[in-house]
Amino acid sequence: MAHQWRGVIREYADRLPVTEATKVITLGEGGTPLVHAQKLSELTGSEVYLKVEGMNPTGSFKDRGMTMAMTAAVEAGAKAVVCASTGNTSASAAAYATAAGLKCAVLVPEGKISMGKLSQAIAHGATLLQVDGNFDNCLDIARKLGEAYPVFLVNSVNPARIQGQKTGAFEVVDSLGDAPDIHVLPVGNAGNISAYWKGYKEYSAPFETANGTLPAVSTKTPIMWGFQAAGAAPFVAGHPITEPDTIATAIRIGNPASWDTAVAARDESGGLIEAVTDDEILAAHRWLSAKEGVFVEPGSAAGVAGLIKKHAAGDVPSGKTIVITVTGHGLKDPQWALRTEDGSDVQPVKVPNDVVTVAAELGLEEN
Ligand SMILES: *Cc1c(COP(=O)(O)O)cnc(C)c1O
Repeated sequence: MAHQWRGVIREYADRLPVTEATKVITLGEGGTPLVHAQKLSELTGSEVYLKVEGMNPTGSFKDRGMTMAMTAAVEAGAKAVVCASTGNTSASAAAYATAAGLKCAVLVPEGKISMGKLSQAIAHGATLLQVDGNFDNCLDIARKLGEAYPVFLVNSVNPARIQGQKTGAFEVVDSLGDAPDIHVLPVGNAGNISAYWKGYKEYSAPFETANGTLPAVSTKTPIMWGFQAAGAAPFVAGHPITEPDTIATAIRIGNPASWDTAVAARDESGGLIEAVTDDEILAAHRWLSAKEGVFVEPGSAAGVAGLIKKHAAGDVPSGKTIVITVTGHGLKDPQWALRTEDGSDVQPVKVPNDVVTVAAELGLEEN
């Protein structure tokens, strides 16, 4: 009988902080495709794969962490959860809170939240407050609410989130048979780069569980390459940015919560965290949809933009295996696909209800 994917907690239960008594809150997240990127592979001479996280239940990798965070919230007896969000965390928290039967409050920054993400939070019944401030201000308030009020914080400062998100690395190794040479991903609040590094490290060494020691699964760990948007690149600057600015709203973060673990991921792996401009991000966004057949939101394209930029600088080795996490679905933020390179919007060509005219418009000649 075909195996039905059971969500990341049940698939990787022996490597997550859960027990047999744990009531698992899941929407079937994880098990996302690792797509061979043909054109990026041709470009670089390496085998490039895309971990397509837009295929998660709410359309981003946030669901991997949210299944753990919501399971922990229920285990702790919480009645309500809170999060700060640039959009995808709120969409995920709202959906998983619904599955858990919990109330959900989300704090989003003024302006610049995509319609797709906002509508998800509303559809799932979250109480949504738009704070007169940026993401970092929202996270500050959410943390304080979690400390002093009866609500459970489900941002990635909650270690359960990182535990869930590390399963992305497990799946990559399980698909490829070993760790890749380089793992590339966008960096915003820096939870995901921290989580992947944790996952890769755990899979490359014997792992202690309650029921004994699991053997190493991979023979190595990858070099981690993180990419930030140039207007929101605190790791590149070496200090927090007070007014982060980029069209890639998912990574528009000036004061990353997972600072130390992201720096450790970069340095322990011999990797880097660099910046890409909004134009480079949009070019990579177009590359993914037009050349690879994978539709992502702009922030998700930062890793691909980084790889293309490093390749142009002669810094991408050939003959290697490279995985890029593309973090969220293109339908979250669809207006970017309708924008042409000169900034105007694509308009559909209007034609009469007539096959001959349609064929002529398509440049077809009759057989
Ligand atoms: C959250 C998010 C990111 C950034 O991940 P961090 O863990 O905050 O670094 C990137 N892309 C998308 C689509 C996201 O939702």
